[in-house]
Amino acid sequence: MKAYQLVGHGAPGKMELRELPDPIPAAGEAVVRVRACGLNRLDLWAEQGGLPVPLQLPRTLGCEIAGEIESIGEGVVNHRIGDRVALQSNLFCGDCEFCMQGEESVCLNSKLLGIERDGGFAEKVSVLASSLVSLPEGVSFDAAAAVTLAGSTAMHMLTQRSQVKSGDWVLVIGASSGVGSAAIQIAKKLGGYVITTGSTEEKRTLGKSLGADFVVDSTSPDWAVEVRRITQKRGVDIVIEHVGGEVLQQCFGCLARNGRIVTCGATGGREVSLKLWQVFVKQQSLIGSYGRNRKDIAATLEWVREGKMRAVIDKTFPLAEVPQAFALLRARKVHGKVIVKP
Ligand SMILES: [Zn+2]
Repeated sequence: MKAYQLVGHGAPGKMELRELPDPIPAAGEAVVRVRACGLNRLDLWAEQGGLPVPLQLPRTLGCEIAGEIESIGEGVVNHRIGDRVALQSNLFCGDCEFCMQGEESVCLNSKLLGIERDGGFAEKVSVLASSLVSLPEGVSFDAAAAVTLAGSTAMHMLTQRSQVKSGDWVLVIGASSGVGSAAIQIAKKLGGYVITTGSTEEKRTLGKSLGADFVVDSTSPDWAVEVRRITQKRGVDIVIEHVGGEVLQQCFGCLARNGRIVTCGATGGREVSLKLWQVFVKQQSLIGSYGRNRKDIAATLEWVREGKMRAVIDKTFPLAEVPQAFALLRARKVHGKVIVKP
């Protein structure tokens, strides 16, 4: 099979289209014919060698995968050859304390698909069959590859790590990002008033088209003041944040009393200083959110099937153009997801 592999770190990293042996499913595993694989910031981080998890080269990146089952190993009973599936990229053991509670995203033995094990920028990928989630009829491979990781991350943040109630003010950072574009739609459907941010007119227009009530220019030094002004100085109840660094710090300035910031990323910086006095006097919370559980993926795909959420796809590329897909994401000019179709 063909796979595009990262062979040297950098920005751009060194990548090669290689011919590899077809994966053979071990007991409990399934081999999936990859039909679509979404790109994520995580891939850029891995490309640069900046991830705080071990990454051995060469490695096939790609963690947001949809396809159909090509073969199954011994003991696989819940899925059949030909089934259309999406993949849970938080690979989990199924046996630890947290997996037993259905909280596989915090599995004690977790591994990241496409980082610690070969992923989806390839014609085929093998995983434990327990990592497969069935695709509802009518949800395309492209749509699934656009929401399985980022969309379900947003679902996890808004329905599990925090619970948006009708009438809540929700600030979504980055309207055009994968997490942001899904979070706007989820928060609106749950009855929230949504404010979102974007660095260009196009990104802010996308935010509006996804249902945001207000959009704010994130390049303005006063964007956080603008959020407070929109809420008549009250502040927002929930912030969906995935940038970290200074942006996260500024989010505290947008937060109402009893407000929660849910964060799932730190591309903008992993160290942040806090004004603790404000945090406890205003009873604010900073909540970490890591990946998703299969139930979040199933819920997200179901929302897509019902038309409650739409996948926002900027561009698709064939497998042979993986480096071009990375370049587009690196240039930060995308509006929605970039998808590779092996
Ligand atoms: Zn586990």
